[in-house]
Amino acid sequence: MNQSSVISLIPLIAFLTLFILQALAPRRELAKSGWRRIQHNFFLFLANTVCMRLLVPLSLVGVANWVASENLGLLNLFEIPLSISVLVCVVLLDFAIYWQHVATHKFPILWRFHKVHHADTDMDVTTAIRFHPLELLLSLGYKVILVVMIGVPVLAVIVFELLLFVSPAFNHSNLRLPTWLDASLRLVIATPDVHRAHHSIIVAEQNTNYGFFIIWWDKLFDTYTANPKNAHESMPIGLENSTDQCDRVDQMLLAPFK
Ligand SMILES: [Zn+2]
Ligand SMILES: [Zn+2]
Repeated sequence: MNQSSVISLIPLIAFLTLFILQALAPRRELAKSGWRRIQHNFFLFLANTVCMRLLVPLSLVGVANWVASENLGLLNLFEIPLSISVLVCVVLLDFAIYWQHVATHKFPILWRFHKVHHADTDMDVTTAIRFHPLELLLSLGYKVILVVMIGVPVLAVIVFELLLFVSPAFNHSNLRLPTWLDASLRLVIATPDVHRAHHSIIVAEQNTNYGFFIIWWDKLFDTYTANPKNAHESMPIGLENSTDQCDRVDQMLLAPFK
């Protein structure tokens, strides 16, 4: 098996590991939502994968290869060691995705698509793959602009794309972490308890904890909620307005256009 095949298996391995771990050590009782919710989150993921493969001819790695061959972007103006530029780019892209997430909550046109993610009435690892295809498409366009403008190296794109899958899989999971581990991790990254507050039915809590990996941006820009008002075990998750609910995959795909 070559190196790129091993790398492409990382998201699948991480997803399956978290799927099993959250069943072995659950933070909340998910029985009320059951398999139906999980199935339809998977269906949306499959629809997204098919849409992206058929409709989008470019990949972010392909864009980064082109940027490198043409010597484009801010970082290519300087002689920077690869390890440093990868680190800088991953932090910059994480920062940019924090603002993308803020924008999806602030602008009604973007919220129409992002609310499909928030309409999940519970939160587990499958919530991390529940996004409307047009939100993913807009996000790809935003990332393409960033990669070209910054001059992101291919390795940084690979690392970041892996993080962009594995970190949300982790912080959407229903995994119960020991208190000491949650407290230590949240010094740097968003843990499941941190992101669960973002999925609260309470709008003021939804408008916090936007970070998908590094937690510092929320702390820096005063959008950090340490603990939701209600206990994690019983806090209502989803959207306040029942007309925004969408449980089946066809409802999820049509929800933004209602
Ligand atoms: Zn959100
Ligand atoms: Zn989320």
